[in-house]
Amino acid sequence: MMPLSYRSPKTEVRESKIHGHGLFATADIAKDEVVAVKGGHIVDRKTLREQITPRLGPVEIQIDDDLFIALVTDDERELSMLYSNHSCNANLGVRGEITFVAMRNVRAGEELTHDWAMTDDDDYSVECQCGAPNCRKILTGKDWQRPELQKRYAGYFSAYLARKIAMRCHSERSEESHNRRSDHTEKLV
Ligand SMILES: [Zn+2]
Repeated sequence: MMPLSYRSPKTEVRESKIHGHGLFATADIAKDEVVAVKGGHIVDRKTLREQITPRLGPVEIQIDDDLFIALVTDDERELSMLYSNHSCNANLGVRGEITFVAMRNVRAGEELTHDWAMTDDDDYSVECQCGAPNCRKILTGKDWQRPELQKRYAGYFSAYLARKIAMRCHSERSEESHNRRSDHTEKLV
């Protein structure tokens, strides 16, 4: 059967220390090279929560506020899974919403990981055992709002999150200038 997703020929799936199976580089990968593209069916949150996650576990990538790309039957697991584990010290970022690229040069043998903060806007809170020295220990669906992650992953957030981040910065800035204006008015009074 034709795969639903794309994984670079420079990758392989094997056992991971982080969790179950992971995606590994079999050759050096240059910064910004495409590593994987997620394919599957487009479903909303209700369908995901009620029909997919209970049967298949976490098999989706969030691509907008209420849209996810996921496999929907067990037969599609091998065809759709990218096997990229979460790491708090990720080396993959997102281009657009379904394309995963190297955020830095990656050496052959390294596990390829992305950070859920780059794709997720949700209300979960789960323990992280990724083992990275900078592990956040608790991952939440709102980690994209953390300033240090916005800085670290600038240019590598899913496009729909990048837009939210830009809008928040914009509204914070206009609030600041509004406050400055009111200070000024008070001084005049
Ligand atoms: Zn972690």
